[in-house]
Amino acid sequence: MNIVLLGAPGAGKGTQAQKLVEEFGLVHISTGDLLRAAVKAQSKLGIEAKSYMDAGKLVPDQLVINLVKERLQADDAQAGFILDGFPRNTAQAVTLDSELASMERNLDAALLVDVKPDVIVKRLSSRRTCRSCGYTAPAGVDVCPRCGGEMYQRDDDKPETIQKRLDVYQTQTAPLVEYYRGHSILKEVDGDRPVDEVYADVKALLTA
Ligand code: AMP
Repeated sequence: MNIVLLGAPGAGKGTQAQKLVEEFGLVHISTGDLLRAAVKAQSKLGIEAKSYMDAGKLVPDQLVINLVKERLQADDAQAGFILDGFPRNTAQAVTLDSELASMERNLDAALLVDVKPDVIVKRLSSRRTCRSCGYTAPAGVDVCPRCGGEMYQRDDDKPETIQKRLDVYQTQTAPLVEYYRGHSILKEVDGDRPVDEVYADVKALLTA
């Protein structure tokens, strides 16, 4: 099963992806996580990406596309993947389609986790992320329940950057909903509910 996750930052894509990984053994490919790892490692890519990320802007397409291409070719991605945070605009979606076609693979579903903007602002501003494994939890959780790592507030989860990220989502990423509807692979869930309720719908939609 090859899946693309769509939805605003903070909609719960990573949480749903994690549950799908556990149940279906898919590989979770989060471009945000890959970029944050590159920033932490201070690699050439990380140094180039950091200023865009801190400003809540998209990192230039070619940098992210190269990262995803490489990841999709790895052995562990051959049995199925969940792309989380990619594609973020139409150019990335078109490139993904042609890359998959050249690998004789295709997408089975584009899953939209739909959450209204006012809920997103509240969720993101109180979100804490594990420095070691990327696990997210609401403010007040200081130690990662999954790996014991330190929980921190991402720079781009601070109020001044949240609105910018939502604007970028609306103008550049939201049009992908129609793109995938046009390809007849769009599935939609209401993400403004408890995690397990959302996941029950996700699973039903993907296995129907
Ligand atoms: P995320 O964790 O998915 O919210 O991503 C955090 C930041 O990484 C975004 O605000 C962008 O700056 C950058 N980023 C992640 N994925 C992409 C992508 N597909 N294209 C461009 N920039 C990205």
